Amino acid sequence: MGAGLAGLTVAGLLQRAGFPVAVYEQSPGFSRIGAGIILGADVAKVLRRLDLEQAFATTGIRPDAFVSRAWDTGETLYRLEFDEDCETRFGGPFVNIHRADLHQLLQRPLQPGTIRYGHKLAGIGETTNGVTLAFENGATAEADIAIGADGIRSRAREIILGAEEPRFIGRSAPRAVFPANRIKGEPIGDCTKWWAADRHTLAYYMTARRDEVYVMAALPAERWDGDGSPVPGDRDEFIAAFDGAHPDLIRAVEAAEDVTVWPIFDRPRNDCWSKGRVVLMGDACHAVRPFMAAGGSMAIEDAAILSRCIAGFADPETAFARYAAIRIPRVAEVQRISIDNSWMHGPTKTDWFFGYDPCLVPLDAAA
Ligand SMILES: Cc1cc2nc3c(=O)[nH]c(=O)nc-3n(C[C@H](O)[C@H](O)[C@H](O)COP(=O)(O)OP(=O)(O)OC[C@H]3O[C@@H](n4cnc5c(N)ncnc54)[C@H](O)[C@@H]3O)c2cc1C
Repeated sequence: MGAGLAGLTVAGLLQRAGFPVAVYEQSPGFSRIGAGIILGADVAKVLRRLDLEQAFATTGIRPDAFVSRAWDTGETLYRLEFDEDCETRFGGPFVNIHRADLHQLLQRPLQPGTIRYGHKLAGIGETTNGVTLAFENGATAEADIAIGADGIRSRAREIILGAEEPRFIGRSAPRAVFPANRIKGEPIGDCTKWWAADRHTLAYYMTARRDEVYVMAALPAERWDGDGSPVPGDRDEFIAAFDGAHPDLIRAVEAAEDVTVWPIFDRPRNDCWSKGRVVLMGDACHAVRPFMAAGGSMAIEDAAILSRCIAGFADPETAFARYAAIRIPRVAEVQRISIDNSWMHGPTKTDWFFGYDPCLVPLDAAA
């Protein structure tokens, strides 16, 4: 369930391995959501197995570097150069891409008709050898197993673990996407994170042509009254949040036209990822705050390990237990760093993260 990053990737990999797969998605279809995503070589290696790596790296941008700068003085705090040596060391490129473009790419390997839109999961029942799925539109379906890839407000999770609201972390994320030629003066850096004591901002290009820019800030917010959905933001308020910022940052945010504000939620760690023939992946089982820019990477890595475990172990419970045992230590570390908001702020060991290949990790070992 869920045609997000996790669901589409696992569907593609399972179909490649010869399994019949259907993806049930609540939305009636997809539109071009205005947001970018940063992904590293760990993800490129999964997309390689779907023959998507080349398109991924040329649709998005391979930035020349990730740079951390001080919000006010502009001082460079850390720089990770993405040159050839780095790509060889990590085993693939680092790519920034528009989410909608990534979404399109992930649908390419799927057999026609795989995604069943307008199917919002309502319930899951287990039979002796399978599961029965019930949807809000009245439809039902039967399958050998069910994979809950339905995001942070996962219904599948609720069915397994009981109802538990995600945690609002006291930050909102105004985001803007706009043409690069709106920025006055010199072009901005390919990918920069700006750090202040109580807030940060990411600004980067999302296309190889460097013609589309994405700016996302994480700002203090005492409360959030709505649900998890984004709301239209106020451009002047957005720009005012950058008072005292370095001119290079102000130039970038002043180019924003429309601003959308997303609340930031996560969930406390919970290592129960499956029950019987139902298993969770991505934000459904480990929603992390986006401060390491790694939630999507974790979802795609999950897909690689879960599909391998399903292919490697005939019994679903054994497959799901292996998958969780391999994934939990790595995801827990990502969650810890994301809460800390320390990733690449200063000198950082990055090989363990970007050098990881979830398609090669032994299935009989903990990560
Ligand atoms: C501000 C922000 C910036 C981020 N930046 C990055 C980044 O740079 N890099 C990175 O790696 N990660 C980033 N992330 C995290 C990343 O977006 C998520 O971790 C990732 O999208 C999770 O993928 P998923 O497939 O688990 O869930 P989702 O992408 O949320 O997909 C879930 C899907 O399930 C569907 N669904 C939901 N309920 C039902 C139901 N009941 N029945 C059927 N379908 C259902 C939804 O419509 C959706 O299509 C960021 C997150 C935020 C909030």
